[in-house]
Amino acid sequence: KISLNDCLACSGCITSAESVLITQQSHEEFYRVLSQNKVADTSKKLVVVSVSPQSRASVAAKFNLSIEETARRLTAFFKNLGVHYVFDTTFSRNFSLLESQREFVQRFQRQTEDKQALPMLASACPGWICYAEKTHGNYIIPFISTTKSPQQVMGSLVKDYFGKLHNKTPDQIYHVTVMPCYDKKLEASRQDFFNTEYQTRDVDCVITSGEALKMLEEEGLCLSDVAPVSLDTMFNNRLEGEVLNHSGGGSGGYLEHIYKHAAKALFGVEVQEITYKTLKGEFFVRQLSLEEPTYILIIYIYIYIYKNKMERIENFKKKKVSSQALSKFSELPSGCLNGGGQIKEKSGSNKDVLQSVEELYESVSTEIPEENPYVRELYDQWLNNAEPEMVHKILHTQYHAVEKMSTGLNIKW
Ligand code: SF4
Repeated sequence: KISLNDCLACSGCITSAESVLITQQSHEEFYRVLSQNKVADTSKKLVVVSVSPQSRASVAAKFNLSIEETARRLTAFFKNLGVHYVFDTTFSRNFSLLESQREFVQRFQRQTEDKQALPMLASACPGWICYAEKTHGNYIIPFISTTKSPQQVMGSLVKDYFGKLHNKTPDQIYHVTVMPCYDKKLEASRQDFFNTEYQTRDVDCVITSGEALKMLEEEGLCLSDVAPVSLDTMFNNRLEGEVLNHSGGGSGGYLEHIYKHAAKALFGVEVQEITYKTLKGEFFVRQLSLEEPTYILIIYIYIYIYKNKMERIENFKKKKVSSQALSKFSELPSGCLNGGGQIKEKSGSNKDVLQSVEELYESVSTEIPEENPYVRELYDQWLNNAEPEMVHKILHTQYHAVEKMSTGLNIKW
């Protein structure tokens, strides 16, 4: 029996639609739970769907709708199927961004005594985590940010915070996310996000943007014909949700947010404008830097190409590049807007599709995580006034080195 835990994120099977073997992580399973809910009296689940901003942009481009229209119509579509609440993972991304910012500053401050504090490697991409655990194990793990991804923060919010508000135990909620990438199924299936007490996961099922489209097609619907409804909110004191985004690009804007926060927290510098530099000779590397009289340089590098990053990590291990050169913070790889689970055109240019997905994604007003009053409220109420142990338990995770198999089936990364 092969489960998702055996996956090497090689894109060889999980990412090819015809061989998605994972029954728990499919829109058929989602349908099964919805139809069971219609007949069962006692075991009815509270069904919650959390849509990622990247998937929303993909669906908006497909139907030529604005982001706001798409959010309202998608909410209506899922609710008509029997879903009780539809949320947006932009909200949970506030926590991921805030925790990444804090983690970076803490690592920066302990870099003299802790040689594994920097560079901090981003953790929001499950494909990269899978690769790191299975190929570089204990060597690279200490450098990876422990902050949970927006999907998994949403998992904790829905199953813990929201569940308690509705007097539901985690196993009485069925939580589905709509994501731009098949690797997110892999992430939801990690043992670290399994609640042994209630025998349930923080995210029960992940469907891709493409699978959401398939559901619309199976219902014989065009999203433009679905009547829009108001957006849900998790809070009793807030009547309607609103569509927001974060600045800094399609993978979540971690680089930009961490850069601004670190400049202020470490050097008292308010960064007003972000200017990316392209490193000489390395077309796909973008850099943000801050030069101060007492400090030589802080460098943040944003790398677009997976292969490029892997080469750098190999060289870092072989001591061919210093951690300074590798960067103080690395976010990789970018491109969730172009993830493998996004809606692709069967004919025509996907380049044009991507461009319109990017434009739609960027068309939404951005928020600053520190300024969101509901996020502050949750740090106070849910996380015991941001009590460090509580914050670490709920908003952070851990990684595990996987022993290499010595069989002929080994894949060379
Ligand atoms: S879309 Fe790409 S960058 Fe985003 S999570 Fe998936 S594999 Fe990682």
